[in-house]
Amino acid sequence: MRETRTVSGKVWQACACASVYPSPNYLPMRYPSLLLLLGSFTLGCSSPACAADTPPAFTEIRKIDVHSHIFEDVPAIHALFRRINVRTINVCVPGGDGHLATMDRIAFELYRKEPTLYPVTTTFDVLTRDEPDYAARTNAWLDAAFARGAVAVKIWKEVGIDIKDRNGKFILPDDPRFDPIYAHLAQRGKPLHAHLAEPIDAWLPLDPNSAHYGYYSTNPQWHLYGKPEYPSHAAIIAARDHILKKHPTLVVVGAHLGSLEHDLNGIAERLERYPNFFIEVAARTRNLTRHPSEQVRALFLKFPDRIMYGVDASWLPHRRPQPPTDAQRNAHAQMLEARYQADFDYYAGQGEVTYNGRKVQALNLPRPVLEKFYHANAERIYRLDAAWAGK
Ligand SMILES: [Zn+2]
Repeated sequence: MRETRTVSGKVWQACACASVYPSPNYLPMRYPSLLLLLGSFTLGCSSPACAADTPPAFTEIRKIDVHSHIFEDVPAIHALFRRINVRTINVCVPGGDGHLATMDRIAFELYRKEPTLYPVTTTFDVLTRDEPDYAARTNAWLDAAFARGAVAVKIWKEVGIDIKDRNGKFILPDDPRFDPIYAHLAQRGKPLHAHLAEPIDAWLPLDPNSAHYGYYSTNPQWHLYGKPEYPSHAAIIAARDHILKKHPTLVVVGAHLGSLEHDLNGIAERLERYPNFFIEVAARTRNLTRHPSEQVRALFLKFPDRIMYGVDASWLPHRRPQPPTDAQRNAHAQMLEARYQADFDYYAGQGEVTYNGRKVQALNLPRPVLEKFYHANAERIYRLDAAWAGK
C-alpha cells in the first residue's frame, strides 16, 4: 500500500510570470524525513511487473521542471536538484525589459557549468520590432543561441497585452511580423514555449478566493478587468491557436496550461485539434487542484504524451538593487523543495492531501503517466539528451 502524506503549512505562492520574487515573509519549512515514504514503496515488491505499477518515490523519479528562471550560480540549488532528482530548463524572459543580454550570459554560463541541470530556453528582443530587418536579426540571434545549445524559445505575455504597433494597437502573437521567426523555429526543430495571455482571472474582478489573487492584487498592471482597451482573453487565445494552425510543424508548448487553466475541456479541444500543441503546468498546479480530481486525472490519462511538469520559480538577482544574501538563497532552495514535494504529493499521491492550505484529492496518476509527465515528454520534445551532453 502506498503511504499518503499530508503536506501542510505555509507554502510559497508561485508567480504567474517571471516578474515577482518569492514573498519576503516566506518562512522556510522543513519536511519530515522521507524514509517512511520510501520504505512503503520498496517493501515486498521485486518483480518487474510490480515495479512498473508501483508509484515512484519522490526522489526516485526524475523530475524535469521545464519552466524555471534561475539567474545565479547557487550551489545550494544545484545540491538540492541532485538530492531530490530534479533537472530544469532555465527560461530567459522577457524580451522587452532591457535585461536580455544579461539573462543570456548568466543562463549560458550556468548551462556550461551544469549542463544536466540547466539547459536553456532562450528568448528574443521585442523592442526593435518595427525595424525593417527585425525577423532576420532575430533569427540570427536565435541561431547563435542554438549554436550554444538552447533547446527552445520563449514568447511572453508582453506580446498581446503590452507591446503596441506604430498606430498604438496591441500586437497580437499571430502578427505577421513574427511569422518568419515561427517558420524558422519550425525549420530548426525548436519548440516555442508560449506564455500568451494570462489566467482568465486577469479579466475578472479581483477575487480573494482566486488562485491568482495574490499576484493581481500586487501586480495591478497585469490585471485587465475594467480596461476595455486591452485585447480579450479569447482574442489572445485565438491568436495563439492561429499560430498553431498557420505553422503546423512548429511545436508550441503552452506555458501555464496554455492559459486555459479554468477550462479543462478547452485544453482537451486544443490538444485534439493541434497535434503540434503541448502544455506544461507551471504555476497552475494550484488551478488543477480546484477542478474535480477525476476530471483532471482523465485529462492526463487521455493525453499522457502532451503534458509536462513545471513550477515557474524565479530567482532573479539581476533585477534586485542589492545582491541576495546566502540566507535568502538557502530559503529559496527550501521553498523550491517544498514546492516540488507538494506538487508530487498531488500528482502521485492517493487520497486527500493539502495543497496551498486547501484539502484536495490527489490524482494518483499511474506510474507510466507520471514518468511521461515528469520527464519523458520533456526529454523527447526538448531533445534533452543532446542538451545534457552539451551538444
Ligand atoms: Zn515564468
